[in-house]
Amino acid sequence: MEELKRIIEEKGKVLSDQVLKTDSFLNHSVDPVLMDHIGRDFAGHFRDDGITKVITIESGGIAPALATAMHLGVPMVFVKKARPVTMTAPLTATVHSFTKNRDYELCVEQGLIKAEDHVLFIDDFLANGDAFKGILTLLDQAQAHLAGAGICIEKSWQHGRKTIRDLGIPLYVLASVKSMSEDGIVWDEPDQ
Ligand code: 5GP
Repeated sequence: MEELKRIIEEKGKVLSDQVLKTDSFLNHSVDPVLMDHIGRDFAGHFRDDGITKVITIESGGIAPALATAMHLGVPMVFVKKARPVTMTAPLTATVHSFTKNRDYELCVEQGLIKAEDHVLFIDDFLANGDAFKGILTLLDQAQAHLAGAGICIEKSWQHGRKTIRDLGIPLYVLASVKSMSEDGIVWDEPDQ
């Protein structure tokens, strides 16, 4: 998605050759017009796949997931990283955080995902695929079907793409980073 790549080049910050900061438009401060265009792009790609629900993880995935759900006309569920007292019957999965370099527990209220759901996972970044694997564990517990994964920004040298593709799950990425440094970003052009 050329618009997203342009905004990353203008406003993103390469913190190291592993971490890109996008919190002025994607996952802290949010550009609503960009989110609308991202949601339209994801929805267009997965429109014929019978999606009944969009799922993401708080907080970075919420804005693009909500925009996608609005364009598909289906509900969105965001999985929480801390269990509130109001959550009575959680499904849980342990996940390793790439940015915080520690394990944490994902949880979602059992009844929010149904066995008959065809779920689309949306997230801000794909690195090693740990967040994806956590979502898959939760959906397995709910006996729901993971119909695809839509990722705003992939770092293509990390393992996430292989993890998702090896499981036969359709993957659609809006901006794929091949490498990055203080000199700038080199874009990848994955088949999809
Ligand atoms: P994974 O679970 O695929 O290893 O990493 C994906 C998750 O880690 C995303 O949900 C995102 O929040 C975070 N993440 C991974 N790489 C980056 C990055 O370069 N920048 C930011 N801001 N978040 C990242």
